[in-house]
Amino acid sequence: MTQTKDKLIEITDLKKYFAVKGSGLLARRQYVQAVESVSFAIYRGETLGLVGESGCGKSTLGRAIIRLHEPTSGRIVYDGTTIYDSDARIAVPMLPYRRKMQIIFQDPSASLDPRMTVGEIVGEALDIHKICSGKAQRRERINQLLDQVGLNTEHANRFPHEFSGGQQQRVGIARALAVNPEFIVCDEPISALDVSIQSQVVNMLEDLQQEMGLTYLFIAHDISVVRHISNRIGVMYLGNLVELSESYELCNHPIHPYTQTLLSAVPLPDPEKNKTRQRILLEGDIPSPIHPPEGCRFHTRCPYATEKCRRETPAFREYGPGHFAACHMLEAKG
Ligand code: SF4
Repeated sequence: MTQTKDKLIEITDLKKYFAVKGSGLLARRQYVQAVESVSFAIYRGETLGLVGESGCGKSTLGRAIIRLHEPTSGRIVYDGTTIYDSDARIAVPMLPYRRKMQIIFQDPSASLDPRMTVGEIVGEALDIHKICSGKAQRRERINQLLDQVGLNTEHANRFPHEFSGGQQQRVGIARALAVNPEFIVCDEPISALDVSIQSQVVNMLEDLQQEMGLTYLFIAHDISVVRHISNRIGVMYLGNLVELSESYELCNHPIHPYTQTLLSAVPLPDPEKNKTRQRILLEGDIPSPIHPPEGCRFHTRCPYATEKCRRETPAFREYGPGHFAACHMLEAKG
């Protein structure tokens, strides 16, 4: 995984709210604030891991970046071209960018149409983007893609239910690769798989990245999975990005209290150290994203919260080279 500092994607103040019905007779419409003012860049050729508890907005953020969910506001620049800007009212047609940006979904069985053969599923994207001229070239490309993900050419005539979960995910990956993308959102691609085959899929994604020069946004709830595949890691809490840094730096010197909590739950390889190390336990439940807390969204569970944390939203600042976090306690330390 070679990391260059060439920005492929830059998002600024990205928000995604979902309207939901309130309860009661005269109920007003309410909004789930799934992603709140998130800004960061993804460099060409890197894997950026995104972690956080279920419901923290990481999948929504991934889908908003490729505009599978239309953002509520903010700005997205892809390879120097603004593809979304709520202020300038820019929302460019996405079809050319669908070829460049793809997604691998969490649940392969739910994301594959059970009425289509594997050949039809993989070939559909080739047809939409008019990639092959003629049936022979199309068949050849489908066979090539199946081979790339470790499946056989005879698998093209079978239906998704005839495959194991791991094989179904390989079909999902072949479908994403069909259009020769540059950037792939890997949305919890191994969470639904047996532990025994998770590493096979991760290794395959790494090999494909090397071969094709791919850039990944790798989303997972388990930081121990993300740290092995990612060049950098971003940590989300209740719709906010709270920390972002190089993987080694973030895992060994976390500076945000929430990241410290996540890492304290990761088992250590040394059983003796595991016994003696202190695990940080958070009080209470994650608040509702419909009524998120004022100020720092983590203040209701943070052991260091002060009055200022309850009032003011901390800025996302750089505290070391490429090491960003949002916390008043860090601001005070300078
Ligand atoms: Fe905790 Fe305050 Fe920092 Fe938020 S800003 S993480 S509440 S210390």
